[in-house]
Amino acid sequence: MTDIIQLLPDHVANQIAAGEVVQRPASVVKELLENAIDAQSTSIKLVVKDAGKTLIQVIDNGIGMSTTDARLSFERHATSKIKSADDLFNLHTKGFRGEALASIAAIAHVELKTKTEDAEIGTKITIEGSEVTQQEPEVVAKGTTISVKNLFYNIPARRNFLKSNNVETRHIIDEFHRVALAHPQVEFIMMHNGSDVFNLPASNKRQRIVNIFGSKMNEKLVPVSEATEMLKIDGFVIKPEYAKKSRGEQFFFVNDRFIKSAYLHHAVNAAFEGLLKDGAHPGYFLFLEVDTKSIDINIHPTKTEIKFDDEHAIYAMLRATIKHSLGQFSIAPVLDFEKDTGFDTPYEYSKKSPVAPTIDVDRSFNPFKNEPKQKNIIFPFKREKKNAASWESLYAGLKDETTVVDQDDSIEFESEQVSGSLFETDQEENLRVTFQLQNKYIISPIKSGMLVVHQHLAHQRILYEELLKNITVQEAVSQQLLFPLQLSFSNPDLVFLEDLKEQLEHTGFVFSQIKNGCVEISGIPVSIAESQVEQVLTQLVKDVKEEVPDAGFSQNDLLAKSMAKSMAVKTGTPLKQEAQLHLVHQLFACKEPSVSPGNRPVLVTLDANDFDKKFM
Ligand code: ADP
Ligand code: MG
Repeated sequence: MTDIIQLLPDHVANQIAAGEVVQRPASVVKELLENAIDAQSTSIKLVVKDAGKTLIQVIDNGIGMSTTDARLSFERHATSKIKSADDLFNLHTKGFRGEALASIAAIAHVELKTKTEDAEIGTKITIEGSEVTQQEPEVVAKGTTISVKNLFYNIPARRNFLKSNNVETRHIIDEFHRVALAHPQVEFIMMHNGSDVFNLPASNKRQRIVNIFGSKMNEKLVPVSEATEMLKIDGFVIKPEYAKKSRGEQFFFVNDRFIKSAYLHHAVNAAFEGLLKDGAHPGYFLFLEVDTKSIDINIHPTKTEIKFDDEHAIYAMLRATIKHSLGQFSIAPVLDFEKDTGFDTPYEYSKKSPVAPTIDVDRSFNPFKNEPKQKNIIFPFKREKKNAASWESLYAGLKDETTVVDQDDSIEFESEQVSGSLFETDQEENLRVTFQLQNKYIISPIKSGMLVVHQHLAHQRILYEELLKNITVQEAVSQQLLFPLQLSFSNPDLVFLEDLKEQLEHTGFVFSQIKNGCVEISGIPVSIAESQVEQVLTQLVKDVKEEVPDAGFSQNDLLAKSMAKSMAVKTGTPLKQEAQLHLVHQLFACKEPSVSPGNRPVLVTLDANDFDKKFM
């Protein structure tokens, strides 16, 4: 048999390596920012266009490269950072594998401009798909500028695999946060599509956190600090009362490198034990310093995983230190680690003698009686009064003793064609009678027993289907505002809003301007009140930011879900009977009336047979 093994040509090898190092635009951002840090820059600017799909540029004022080094930097395994295997155990730089530039140059159009301090003139190199297409002297300032254009231009499968601009931007901002947090003494600027997203002056850790996450963050931070020979811990945890349901700010840095560690995360969780509400996640910015010899960063190509020699000791110390800080800032009620919570009966209760249960009956209670007049509930359904007569006909034939219709016609509804396929005719008949329980549930008798509808979830379902239809069919009507509404958003948030603009316009929003931290809105969807707009948009941006992008993401769906959630009538809102009925009827006109957009049950039915058993 003839020999069949060949050595792969360099450009193929580089493309394969690129598969590991460069998953998406954000990976390029990470590598370039880290190179700029390794080059001892004090000011780093990141410029991004179209979520990095068109351009990623990093401009630094670091040590720069000589002409020879500039050329060599694109070779695989070309690095100035280690010389021998021993150096691997004494790493003080971010990079060391010498793979990033070679990988990036294999899958993009790259331009490098660089100059060292003492060189008269700098160098410019252009590379496309690992081929140097141009090299010439160039007059530039000290430092390095790398521009990466048309990422994955020669790997269409990869390019098509990229997520929406929104999601890719989120990843880029995440990487930017990680590097900027680890190096507060370096000035960072980020621009996206021509506008400033971040402008972070050189500062200390606390200021950097606040500059990134907003001034409200300042009061939420509890300092954490401890130093032993083995480990130095420094940073902040977020007070438990500000913990989020979603995994918000969770950052570990080891020797100024962002790392992911489920094990250390567990240690923080353990320190917060008993202080967090169910389902809430602790927030933290923790900077660990350990001897470089006691860790191995070499276990993952993107270097976000790390192995510690003495994991258990680090776990214990981290947990104890955070617990101590939470206690010191009188957040944790007890500092006694070994306390048995089983005996924690509150003092007042232990002394009380048991009281026999009593039954209170309010004989004058009539669930169908008029509620006291409520002022101005804005019930965000369509408001045109088209067919009031046929709406009223729904009441025809109702027995008088069961219902008193509130005649106040301050709320008007359009009548609806109700499919009501779930209910037979005589049940529909029954569905003309509803009452509200605890301003939360709408109850109605049905043939088999009783229907209980969760008003907030039901309304979410109705709005969700309506919004989704509007976004996809693009036929929503909007109400013009007499005076345009001006809302301010942080620049990073504006990036998200801009990306959602088109879909939002399909729901009925009209944006007259989005720029310089301000959004001007001249029209809004008919189903929303002007006073709700700010909250709905703020929540939307928040939800988009927190979306886990890899979990079958659909932006339209997310948008409809988020808006439906903030627009839906809240639990605790009293509803007049027309509103209750309208809600129930609209619900049954939905495609999927029984589950909320967030997959919670919207309604339950209670069987009369079950009541029978209770009366035996
Ligand atoms: P690594 O960072 O692992 O060494 P890279 O491929 O990222 O590998 O970079 C290769 C080399 O190019 C670096 O070791 C460094 O000498 C040089 N280099 C890259 N970016 C810069 C920069 N912004 N400023 C100065 N030198 C740089
Ligand atoms: Mg590097």
